[in-house]
Amino acid sequence: MIRNYKYKLYVSKHTKELSSLITSANFAWNHIVRLARRYYSLYHVSLSPSRIQKHMVKIYKRDRYWSKLHTHSIQAVCQKYERAFNEHFKIKKRGFPRAHKKHIGGSVLFKGSGGYKLTSDGKHGVFIVNKLGKKWKFKFKVTRPWGEIRNVTVKRDNDGCLYLIITCNVPEEHLKREGSGSIGMDFGMKTFLTLSDGSNIQIPDYHKQSLNKTAQADRSYSLKRNAGVYGSSFKRAKRIKQKAHRKVSNLRSDFHWKLAHELCRRYKFIGIEDLNIEGMKRHKNWGRKVSSLGYGEFIQKLSVVAEKYGTVIEKIDRYAPSSQLCSVCGYKYTGTKDLNVREWICPECGTVHDRDVNAAKNILRIAIENYTGEGVPLTGSGNKTLQPLVGQCGHVEPRVGSGLGENPTCFNRGSTSMQLELWFWVRLAWF
Ligand SMILES: [Zn+2]
Repeated sequence: MIRNYKYKLYVSKHTKELSSLITSANFAWNHIVRLARRYYSLYHVSLSPSRIQKHMVKIYKRDRYWSKLHTHSIQAVCQKYERAFNEHFKIKKRGFPRAHKKHIGGSVLFKGSGGYKLTSDGKHGVFIVNKLGKKWKFKFKVTRPWGEIRNVTVKRDNDGCLYLIITCNVPEEHLKREGSGSIGMDFGMKTFLTLSDGSNIQIPDYHKQSLNKTAQADRSYSLKRNAGVYGSSFKRAKRIKQKAHRKVSNLRSDFHWKLAHELCRRYKFIGIEDLNIEGMKRHKNWGRKVSSLGYGEFIQKLSVVAEKYGTVIEKIDRYAPSSQLCSVCGYKYTGTKDLNVREWICPECGTVHDRDVNAAKNILRIAIENYTGEGVPLTGSGNKTLQPLVGQCGHVEPRVGSGLGENPTCFNRGSTSMQLELWFWVRLAWF
């Protein structure tokens, strides 16, 4: 299994030199992109990645500035361009590769055994770069041991901090799961997660909590930038701003990892909704809140952790009416389209529903139906089973796997109950 492990490099007297290597790599990228654009504007033909690679090899040999980079690093930039170039044609809405700011961000790759060395004593590691007969040493804390190294990348954050990313082969990690239940989760604005058992999980709004500090730092930075002051005070303001934003991001990320581990440790099957995160971020009323809570990042982390625990994550269709259906009798109540309706009474069976808990129960039911490919019996109305609604694709076959990345394009209709869990695992064993 290939994994990327990230370590923060301590500042040393060679940090500026290593950072300048990344700037050179960014410069090479910009050169390739501009060359390709210029070529197309002149001849109306795309410059193929293989021709670019040949051209770069020539330039690399005669340019002193680029010759600081290792051949692997130049090769990696060319390969990165090739990937971006191909994606431009394959993926919709993916534009042509663009030039970046060369002094901000970026990365440089070290491959094989050329140009670098890694040592570790278990607690601290040393990353040594061999450059022109000199050795640049960088220390870092070994938070986890790495396996067989494939390549090493030094990445520069927007605030100038350097990180070592080790891509290595590691044996598959299996963690022990304590529970074996199933749960449905509904994401919300008021509560981060509402679970189908009635409980909810609140995430601290780190962005809002630190708004005073980040806003002050942003203001200080923009005042100096607009005034054209690019001296030491500008650099300090920029550093403070980036540090404040990075802290918020780190706090959120830490919370997400811990929550993902907690959920995957407790449950064997998790049903979630496939949300249109990018669309939600653009909403004028709650766009900032969506970005602040980081739903997309959380789902990504949940899928990584689920693999370790062997937990199944099933995504349901985003257009499934999870909020409108009564989880007891299956009645469709359109009044819940109004987001202000937090509680409602089912006109058919008279059950009082909490909006989010009912949605979470429906999500669990639909996820189970998608996973097994069969309708789930209702508890209300004499245990009747509704005929599954087949979506556009006509998919009714059971699917086995984590479910993430393979968005189901259809959904069924049914109900959930306390006996649902037992029923589900009996059916699963039968399959
Ligand atoms: Zn009902």
